[in-house]
Amino acid sequence: MTEMFKNLIAGEWASAGNASRNINPSNTNDVVGEYAQGSVEQMNDAVAAAKAAFPAWSRSGPQERYEILKKASDEILARKEELGRLLSREEGKTLAEGIGEAGRAGQIFAFFAGECLRLGGEAVPSVRPGVGVEITREPVGVIGMITPWNFPIAIPAWKIAPALAYGNCVVIKPADLVPGSAWALVDIIQRAGLPKGVLNLVMGRGSVVGQALLQHKDVHAISFTGSVSTGRKVAEACIASSPMKKVQLEMGGKNPLVVLDDADLKIAVEAAVTGAYFSTGQRCTASSRLIVQAGIHDRFVEACIERLKGVVVDDALKSGTHIGPVVDQSQLDQDLKYIQIAKDEGGKLAWGGEVLKRETPGFYLQPALFTETTNAMRISREEVFGPVANVIRVKDYEEALHLANDTEFGLSAGICTTSLKYATHFKRNSEAGMVMVNLATAGVDYHVPFGGRKGSSYGPREQGAYAKEMYTTVKTAYTLA
Ligand code: NAD
Repeated sequence: MTEMFKNLIAGEWASAGNASRNINPSNTNDVVGEYAQGSVEQMNDAVAAAKAAFPAWSRSGPQERYEILKKASDEILARKEELGRLLSREEGKTLAEGIGEAGRAGQIFAFFAGECLRLGGEAVPSVRPGVGVEITREPVGVIGMITPWNFPIAIPAWKIAPALAYGNCVVIKPADLVPGSAWALVDIIQRAGLPKGVLNLVMGRGSVVGQALLQHKDVHAISFTGSVSTGRKVAEACIASSPMKKVQLEMGGKNPLVVLDDADLKIAVEAAVTGAYFSTGQRCTASSRLIVQAGIHDRFVEACIERLKGVVVDDALKSGTHIGPVVDQSQLDQDLKYIQIAKDEGGKLAWGGEVLKRETPGFYLQPALFTETTNAMRISREEVFGPVANVIRVKDYEEALHLANDTEFGLSAGICTTSLKYATHFKRNSEAGMVMVNLATAGVDYHVPFGGRKGSSYGPREQGAYAKEMYTTVKTAYTLA
């Protein structure tokens, strides 16, 4: 019997008329579970529950919130192996990556448990004699969250934890493709002692329950992570609604990793290979554009290929696997489409790009490395979201910086160099929200801001103490003494 997972509305687990099968991409015969596909009515009930819970929760004390978030953190961390296994089974990243991500969710809850106790305000003198001014932060209200499939526990965690810490109520709609990790997270938080209705989970289709969440008048803010095309629709819906909703969008990337002639080759190859291909390249921060100076170009490409020869693509849950499968057939089709586009545009496939057969039926793709590409080609301009990267040869640092910034995106950017001068200049002049020196563009800390510029992000940053910009609203109070 396949297990059935329900939606959480007003503190009760609620069945839906329909369900979707959550399939293991490493073995398509393995059904992880049947997950409820909510309706518009269920979404409306969830928002009503969040609205009803808000007056009490927004006035709850920091100690109560701290204890609930800390308890959730403790359970996530105690169960990280099991949660990581579920994550890897449903999404396809390796077990080590899955456990790492589950552990990250636990750390995020611990961080925001502490933040419950740290929220302060300011008292400043007025320009008018006898008047005092206080600046405080208050919760925003009911927050709608829409999340993607590629970080199925970390992204829900880094949205839910600050929202609750600062006194908001939440309705979350996770990705319909990979809902299991978000379900497990919500179950843990609810059992940690959260009052009914403060956190609600409605799984299902973006075009149905996602749309209903965006259009609901009682939702005050939306935090979205996903593709640029969906993000644009989300922003439009938030502005069109009355009253307008606060909105935060985290979207795609085409992240450059610059490798200069003076780079440490080993460090550069490690940054490129892990950044471009690990987690199957399905990261918004993936190092998908490798911008390499002419003097090191051939040695770099050769060393990347040598490194890739040792990379094992197999079942995500098998020990010894370095890269798991692509998440599903449609993402695999997209990856293969871009491999063909790159070839048609004159790129040279220097390594990989073949669909692989393994013991179990799954979506296995050998990492693909293109050389002889330009920054004008589609492979350099559009997000593939798979294990596909391309090398662009440049003559000097100035050209590298120019091409790194010549993109619609601006999430993360990296440089491999031993020159303090170029590292410093790149950090200052990169048009990305996150800049890495001698590190892959992917791989970030949870206690500092995360987010980008240009087409990658819109609205306040996520994570760390900066999350309060999204999940609180500022009040300025004047008092005549
Ligand atoms: P997606 O845009 O297809 O879906 C994201 C979410 O939006 C899902 O929950 C989906 O059901 C929902 N949705 C779809 N249509 C909707 C609609 N009309 N109304 C409301 N909700 C709707 O993205 P995806 O394929 O799940 O994720 C991959 C994308 O996410 C990539 O572009 C990747 O770069 C991006 N991503 C960005 C970050 C970041 O922080 N910048 C992190 C991870 C992933």
